[in-house]
Amino acid sequence: LTENTVSITVVGASGDLAKKKIFPALFALYYEDYLPQHFTVFGYARSKLTDDELRDTISKTLTCRVDKRENCSDKMEQFLQRCFYHSGQYGSEVDFCELDNKLKEKEEGKTANRLFYLSIPPNIFVDVVRGASRSASSLKGWTRFIVEKPFGRDSESSSELTRCLKMYLTEEQIFRIDHYLGKELVENLSVLRFANLVFEPLWSRNYIRNVQLIFSEDFGTEGRGGYFDHYGIIRDIMQNHLLQILALFAMETPVSLDAEDIRNEKVKVLRSMRVLKLDDVVVGQYKGHTKGGKSFPAYTDDPTVPKGSLTPTFAAAALFIDNARWDGVPFLMKAGKALHRRGAEIRVQFRHVPGNLYKRKFGTDLDKATNELVIRVQPNEAIYLKINNKVPGLSMRLDSSNLNLLYSERYPREIPDAYERLLLDAIEGERRLFIRSDELDAAWAIFSPLLRELEEKKVVPELYPYGSRGPVGAHYLAAKYNVRWGDLSDSS
Ligand code: NAP
Repeated sequence: LTENTVSITVVGASGDLAKKKIFPALFALYYEDYLPQHFTVFGYARSKLTDDELRDTISKTLTCRVDKRENCSDKMEQFLQRCFYHSGQYGSEVDFCELDNKLKEKEEGKTANRLFYLSIPPNIFVDVVRGASRSASSLKGWTRFIVEKPFGRDSESSSELTRCLKMYLTEEQIFRIDHYLGKELVENLSVLRFANLVFEPLWSRNYIRNVQLIFSEDFGTEGRGGYFDHYGIIRDIMQNHLLQILALFAMETPVSLDAEDIRNEKVKVLRSMRVLKLDDVVVGQYKGHTKGGKSFPAYTDDPTVPKGSLTPTFAAAALFIDNARWDGVPFLMKAGKALHRRGAEIRVQFRHVPGNLYKRKFGTDLDKATNELVIRVQPNEAIYLKINNKVPGLSMRLDSSNLNLLYSERYPREIPDAYERLLLDAIEGERRLFIRSDELDAAWAIFSPLLRELEEKKVVPELYPYGSRGPVGAHYLAAKYNVRWGDLSDSS
């Protein structure tokens, strides 16, 4: 029996994402014994580096888990010895042929499976796929490509990218990564819903008043605005990360946990969504702000951002799913940079208790009296449920308390990074957390007309101070649907 081996080529190995996320995730998998016994990692980019220079660079970003430090430096050294570098042009088949020769040498005649991670700007995706698929595909094993966002800027460019990728690859070979899907609490969404009796029966318009998907960063573009300015927050966060979470949250029960069954349900719910209208969107951009003697820059102060840019750094949107389960329930999204807090959360606000005895007798504030389920994706992962509770004592006083599952207390081990989960799944051929092309089409169909209109009408974003809660327009949008935004991380 021939032994199998896997060769992982990180294309764009000299870049930021490779250093910060991909090599550390590969090391974590190695350290936890999740990589096959025979594996090789290659870095590929134009920069002229030797194997040792690559090893030196990546060694600075490798870490061991806090609770598993034994043999850490030995393991790092063993891992680094499996890492190599090949310098080449992205559009050169000759260079990919040379890579192929080097891969073959390391594979020692074993059945070789090959994974290419495209950690490069989108304008060279197709060049690399052409070169690598033609000249460096595995002859006997599988060859897969992980592709990073952005998958186009709208429906047309995304379809064009898919069409070009499919000239060289089959759908089964393409692993479109959305790293939010690899986050522990996003993966847990289905467990929460489908493995607990108490939630699924409530998961509909009958009991849920609104759902909020909130993403907040407490820093701006800080000199890296060039890429961002071309895309803006709606494409960067909403159309992919938040919409993917929404689809998982709102989909019907899949036939099984198989990738195609889950992705079929996600496509169905995305296709049931109303196309987003300008009236249901608020866009904002951060402006300079001085606080406590410290100055924070405006978005347009970033030297990599064009002067007078109208690109939104903040957006809030109200989305609707026109199906029997969710008819009339607003799904509110909010995403922004340079806000007062950092975090990502799903907040589910339930309806009022009908004929509430306590409200009638004690006049309990209507808003406080609703239950709310909060899934805090990051940081400080948690799931908590706000309930009304009697304050102990002789008087009858109610307050809102949390049933709290704080991950750091319940599971005091380090949570793997999303890239570890996704890389492992790609190696194992598990496609559940990767985005299929029809899913991508459905996602763009919801946002593309709005994005076009924002650009054609040159809609001016509402300015908000760096470090604030964002533009006040977001509150008016929520109020239009009788919703009050939950306050990010109001539980400790
Ligand atoms: P990056 O540092 O800008 O680029 C990666 C490498 O690609 C660079 O080291 C460079 O290598 C090559 N490159 C850069 N610009 C190029 C150009 N115009 N033409 C040809 N080659 C070029 O990008 P990154 O931050 O690592 O991100 C990689 C990909 O992941 C991007 O598509 C990005 O959108 C996506 N992404 C990044 C993050 C993140 O946290 N950084 C998060 C999510 C998604 P050589 O010059 O050595 O060839």
